[in-house]
Amino acid sequence: MGRHASVSDRKRRTRLRPAVRLVLLLLLCAAVAGSALLLRSCVISGGAPTGNDPPQTGNRIAQEALQMPDWVVRDFVPVNEFSRPGTPIDARINGIVVHYVGNPGTTAEQNRSYYKQLARLRNRYASSHFLIGMDGAVIQCVPLDEIAYASSQRNHDTISIECCHPGEDGAFTDATYQALLRLVRWLCDTYGLDAGDVIRHYDVTGKECPRYFVRHPEAWDAFRRDLDRGDPGKTTAQ
Ligand SMILES: [Zn+2]
Repeated sequence: MGRHASVSDRKRRTRLRPAVRLVLLLLLCAAVAGSALLLRSCVISGGAPTGNDPPQTGNRIAQEALQMPDWVVRDFVPVNEFSRPGTPIDARINGIVVHYVGNPGTTAEQNRSYYKQLARLRNRYASSHFLIGMDGAVIQCVPLDEIAYASSQRNHDTISIECCHPGEDGAFTDATYQALLRLVRWLCDTYGLDAGDVIRHYDVTGKECPRYFVRHPEAWDAFRRDLDRGDPGKTTAQ
């Protein structure tokens, strides 16, 4: 019996060997395919994952699904070729771009009205998702799931904020500065971005915008540090 058993065992082992080899081959293929995929995702994200990077998946949210803060006044410009083309923003929003209106003493309402008039004037493409007044009031002009015409080659994947200012030097009032901080913090929170994703128009095209933060890079650095500080007490007290 011992002999019979060992013969049939040997036979079984012999029969099993090709099957085992097939399984090993399949496992090897899976491993190769897996590492190829991993390599591809590293190439797409521009580097090896560090664990701190947000996943490179879409973060766009339908405007109607967004819980907008009550301090944002919604006053969308009607869809038109010159200031609100109605083009969907990229599925992945990668940054927030800060601007100044470049027209000293004008209010947020006046600038919003200008965006609207462009549909009739038809002489310039311009708009922004948000306008912040010298009094710190925030007007939303374009839905956040559409592009605005503010940041040239970054219109497709960034949210834009234009700030009003009293003087030629482009310095923001304290009310504007605080409202900008609060709005950018909310946007960072909503889209999973951080201070490093907050840029000036200047960083995209070299244009002197927002003027004060271009002429005073130390003030820009301070603004981004203030963002990181993320003083929630100050935010809710506003
Ligand atoms: Zn600008």
